[in-house]
Amino acid sequence: MAAAAVPVKKRLLKDEDMTKVEFETSEEVDVTPTFDTMGLREDLLRGIYAYGFEKPSAIQQRAIKQIIKGRDVIAQSQSGTGKTATFCVSVLQCLDIQVRETQALILAPTRELAVQIQKVLLALGDFMNVQCHACIGGTNVGEDIRKLDYGQHVVAGTPGRVFDMIRRRSLRTRAIKMLVLDEADEMLNKGTAVIFCNTKRKVDWLTEKMREANFTVSSMHGDMPQKERESIMKEFRSGASRVLISTDVWARGLDVPQVSLIINYDLPNNRELYIHRIGRSGRYGRKGVAINFVKNDDIRILRDIEQYYSTQIDEMPMNGNFRLSFIPLADSVKILAALQMQAQFVMFFLQ
Ligand code: ADP
Ligand code: MG
Repeated sequence: MAAAAVPVKKRLLKDEDMTKVEFETSEEVDVTPTFDTMGLREDLLRGIYAYGFEKPSAIQQRAIKQIIKGRDVIAQSQSGTGKTATFCVSVLQCLDIQVRETQALILAPTRELAVQIQKVLLALGDFMNVQCHACIGGTNVGEDIRKLDYGQHVVAGTPGRVFDMIRRRSLRTRAIKMLVLDEADEMLNKGTAVIFCNTKRKVDWLTEKMREANFTVSSMHGDMPQKERESIMKEFRSGASRVLISTDVWARGLDVPQVSLIINYDLPNNRELYIHRIGRSGRYGRKGVAINFVKNDDIRILRDIEQYYSTQIDEMPMNGNFRLSFIPLADSVKILAALQMQAQFVMFFLQ
């Protein structure tokens, strides 16, 4: 066969002992045991085999088909099990090569990883004529701009430089249809959230709920002695807990760290407090996100805040493709969802 004439380096995965592995997947996730049966384009399939892959790994057998279908996917598996190729194959399959605009953005926590992803993507897409640029800090900005101007189907990069390129409009986002966060847990573990409630009772209740849901949370309210408040702030600042549940006591006079997400579990009682609260996020020129949980009666108050501050608070679509702000009703499940949304924090920059 032709393969004999073109020797390919065989790549083998660490033997995956499936007898001990338990899979947890969403409903309707089936297993596709071969690359051939995934419905991939010919030129991509060729690239996969030429790269030395023979058989998809366990995560590839489950995730690729779902991503291609257009489902939002969170994939979690041990390191070394082939997640990079999982999203690279999926991204390649979904590209329209005729359109030389950025259609997929892949963010990674380190420069080395971003470059590694670029290499894998280019190798798998070797027969597709794909353009993929690694947009990372510590490199020449002018060169980045030139590469992006040329047109890149895929950009793999680190958040700082990518955001910079978006701000300069060198990286145009309008054709982006896929966003990948590699090692999302790592990228997000610097984020902190504060959840505001209006009463001590609510704080206590929510703290209990969140702890039941296995969240490490700190809580604070006005009845606490100053010393205790300070020690809680210290705990929060150290990163020992990343979620703080608080009444408005927190908003005044305390030296607080950068917070990436504010959740108003209750809308504040007046407009000034709203700014006090959300002013804690996105300082020092960074972006932050505020999410307001509102009941129908609250919408009027929210519109009033909007008008007063000449700002726009958008309704959050519930399909995971959110932008900002408000979701009806509040319970601990919604909070979990909102905290998860930090995972898509970057999407906010792209809109
Ligand atoms: P993860 O991101 O899950 O930690 P990687 O994507 O870095 O894992 O993959 C680990 C190694 O496994 C890489 O060397 C990669 O080339 C290899 N690999 C991935 N998928 C396959 C496959 N289907 N067949 C053979 N080797 C694979
Ligand atoms: Mg990886």
